[in-house]
Amino acid sequence: MKAEGNLLKMATQHPERVDYYLNIGNDQVYVNDLIGHPLTLTWEHQINCIRCGRKTSKSFFQGYCYPCFLKAPETAPCIVHPEQCQAQEGIARDMEWSRTHCLIDHYVYLAVSSGLKVGVTRHTQIPTRWIDQGAHKAIKLARTPNRHLAGLIEVDLKQHLADKTNWQQMLKGQVKREVDLKEEKARASQLLSSDLRQYLVDEDAVTTITYPLDQHPAKVKSLSFDKEDEYSGRLAGVKGQYLIFEDGRVFNVRKHNGYLAGISSA
Ligand SMILES: [Zn+2]
Repeated sequence: MKAEGNLLKMATQHPERVDYYLNIGNDQVYVNDLIGHPLTLTWEHQINCIRCGRKTSKSFFQGYCYPCFLKAPETAPCIVHPEQCQAQEGIARDMEWSRTHCLIDHYVYLAVSSGLKVGVTRHTQIPTRWIDQGAHKAIKLARTPNRHLAGLIEVDLKQHLADKTNWQQMLKGQVKREVDLKEEKARASQLLSSDLRQYLVDEDAVTTITYPLDQHPAKVKSLSFDKEDEYSGRLAGVKGQYLIFEDGRVFNVRKHNGYLAGISSA
């Protein structure tokens, strides 16, 4: 197997165990089949913006050139801080984009990727968002008609809950598996301000996710094309958006969006 082109975050399917597809140029490489095999990753010292295609010496916001970072709706502050979204008041970098990305149903969820965390995602991104974060399990907490309201719920709960994943713990499998998400949801529902409780959802299904990774590495060290332009190692598995190698090196594919790269297996 050999493929080259600009990288894009891995596509996933979620049956019993997640199926991963590496998007590279015009190819989609089925990654699960590469597990256990030696792989070589190479970087061609070029990054192309994933939005406009222009060459950029540096990647901003995981794959954008600086001009796109400043003006694209995909990189607006509300992407990181949903509570700052103003699309519901008609204010946005691009209202047409916001009508299909911000003024649609969003979920606030609880997930366990390392510890328990709260997060926000568009309804179309379930379970993709959870898989990208390497979550072992997740539950829907609230459903809102726009991004801003979901952000307000998240901010309210951040007083009590983490909103970040510890990626090293996630990759080492140091996970608080004993967390009971139904119990945590009941607790979070009680803690939520009364004016936001109308958005709570009754649906109590816990989604569990299993990754193609039999043994978590004891130590992890990130692998970045900004520091190394070639790497070879045996692929141990995949979790979140990370390729995990047997020597503990981990490659965050999403962070390399737009990097012109090559991948080959012996
Ligand atoms: Zn651009």
